Amino acid sequence: MNRLIELCQIVGKRVPIWTQGLGGNISYKDGSILWVKASGYRLDAVSSNIGLAQVNIDRFKDWFFRQEVNEESYSQGIEQSTLPLKNGDFLRPSMETGFHVVLKSTYVIHFHSVIALLMAHEYRLNCSRVSDWFAENGFGSQVEWLDSIRPGLLLAKEIHRRSNASVWILRNHGILLATENPDLLERWQNFEAQFAFSFGYAEMAELCMSHQPLILAKSLVKDVKLETVKLYFPDTAVFLLELSEALDGKRPWTENLREIWLATLLLYKSCPELEELPLSITSSVRGLPTEKYRLKSGDL
Ligand SMILES: [Zn+2]
Repeated sequence: MNRLIELCQIVGKRVPIWTQGLGGNISYKDGSILWVKASGYRLDAVSSNIGLAQVNIDRFKDWFFRQEVNEESYSQGIEQSTLPLKNGDFLRPSMETGFHVVLKSTYVIHFHSVIALLMAHEYRLNCSRVSDWFAENGFGSQVEWLDSIRPGLLLAKEIHRRSNASVWILRNHGILLATENPDLLERWQNFEAQFAFSFGYAEMAELCMSHQPLILAKSLVKDVKLETVKLYFPDTAVFLLELSEALDGKRPWTENLREIWLATLLLYKSCPELEELPLSITSSVRGLPTEKYRLKSGDL
């Protein structure tokens, strides 16, 4: 349990390179219970009595593996399998609870790594070069590459179908690591830096290893001009209205919006030709039952 909190802190501090705003979620399985970051909390806000929800694994599986499962019942399944905390409160588990439950590993770590988006981009340009490089550098057969896919139920189904990996690169979304040993995270951090350096993203490599990525990121993008919002992540689509209004000076900037925007500028600067999310995802993501809940509990 303490290790889970520590992991939330480690990932949550690497803003905006690993997480932005309320994004990312990490879980730990303790017998029949899943502890997972609650919806509407920042990873760096998680502590022993803040921001962790409890899920009854078997009860959630009953919902998830129903033949007729849909977005509505997926959302309901999350709600119905949530357990009360010691103080009697119910915190809503992450909308990504599905893949946390279906993966058997004790620790499941998911975050919106900007380097993972660049990896997916390079893979699309030349998959054999990238696969070979991954294998040569210690991440070979255990990696799965997923195309852009809607978060929540659809993503969880796809992860379940390809659950034999320990690393999943999610195009236009981020990274998912499943492990018994959370030291994998440190190995992954070095790997990202190596990747960025080897594939010509030198500034991003520096950012990967920086102890103060937020300060460095701000200085890297200070001269970057971007007229329209680039939708690289599902979260950008979820908060598009708020982000556009903040950019137009019609609404104050929140920490959440600032961090999403900073990651967008970094990605644009590193790779102006980076593909955005397909329209089918951007147009549907905000209407999901799980997302409606997330917006309600968000900081906007
Ligand atoms: Zn995510």
